[in-house]
Amino acid sequence: MGSVTPPDATHAAPSRGATLELQGVAYHYEGRNQNESAGLGPLSLMVQAGEFLTVVGPSGSGKSTLLSVLAGFLRPQAGQVRLAGQVISGPAAALTLVQQEHALFPWLTVAGNVAFGLKSQRVPGQEQQRRITDALTQVGLAGYEKRRIHELSGGQRQRVSLARALAIRPGLLLLDEPFSALDARTRTEISEQLLGIWQGQQVTVVFVTHNLEEALDLGERVVALRGGAVVLDSPTEGLDAHRLRAVLDGE
Ligand code: ADP
Repeated sequence: MGSVTPPDATHAAPSRGATLELQGVAYHYEGRNQNESAGLGPLSLMVQAGEFLTVVGPSGSGKSTLLSVLAGFLRPQAGQVRLAGQVISGPAAALTLVQQEHALFPWLTVAGNVAFGLKSQRVPGQEQQRRITDALTQVGLAGYEKRRIHELSGGQRQRVSLARALAIRPGLLLLDEPFSALDARTRTEISEQLLGIWQGQQVTVVFVTHNLEEALDLGERVVALRGGAVVLDSPTEGLDAHRLRAVLDGE
C-alpha cells in the first residue's frame, strides 16, 4: 500500500494521473474450459496518464474481471499490469474503485467514510480534515461531514463514494457501473460533476458501463469487450451508439 502515491503528498499537489499499461494480461476462472473464454484476455492495452477510458460489453464479456485485475484483487495468470511503471501485485492505494452501491460503511458518518482510505494510508490528522473537506466540496457535499449514510439519497451516497476515492488523490480512478442505480437526472448531474473533477485533476479514469450512450458521452476513448477480448478500441468522437452496438453484436 502507498508505494506509488506518497501518503505525504502536499495539499496543493494536483493529481496528474498515472499511465496504465496492460501487457498480455489473462485471467481465466478455474474449472472452466479456457476455450469458452470464461474470463479475460490475453489483452494488451495502454491508457495514457490523464485519459478517460470507458469500457463496455455485454454481460459476461469480462468487464468485472478486468476491473478486479486492475484493482489488484485478482492476480492475472499471464501478463502484467503496470501503473505509473510499477507492476500491480495487490490492492494498491494509488488507485481506487467506486462501485454501484453498498460500498459505504453505514455506521460511519460521511466524514468517517471519506476518511477511511486516508487512515489506512496514515495521512496525518490535519491533512485528513483538509482532504475530506476538499473532496466533499468537489462532489457538492460541503457541510455534510457529520451526516449519517442512511440520511442520504442514492445520488448523495454515490457522491460520498466518489469523495472517498478522490480524497486518496489516486493516480487511477476505477469506476464500476457507478451510476447505474440512479435516476436519469441524478445520473446526469453526477456525471457532469465527475467530468469537471477529471478535467480539474487530470486523474486517469477507467469507467465500466453497460450503457453505451454513457460510455460515449463520458469517455474520450472506448474499449468494447466481447468474450474477454477487445473487439473495438476507438476515440468516442465520431462514434455513435448504433455503431458500437453493431460491433458488440458481432456485425
Ligand atoms: P461482465 O462483468 O462483463 O459481466 P465478468 O468479468 O463477470 O463479465 O465475467 C467474464 C466471464 O467469466 C463470464 O463468462 C463469467 O461467466 C465468467 N466468470 C466470472 N466470474 C466467475 C467466477 N467467479 N467463477 C467462474 N466463472 C466466472
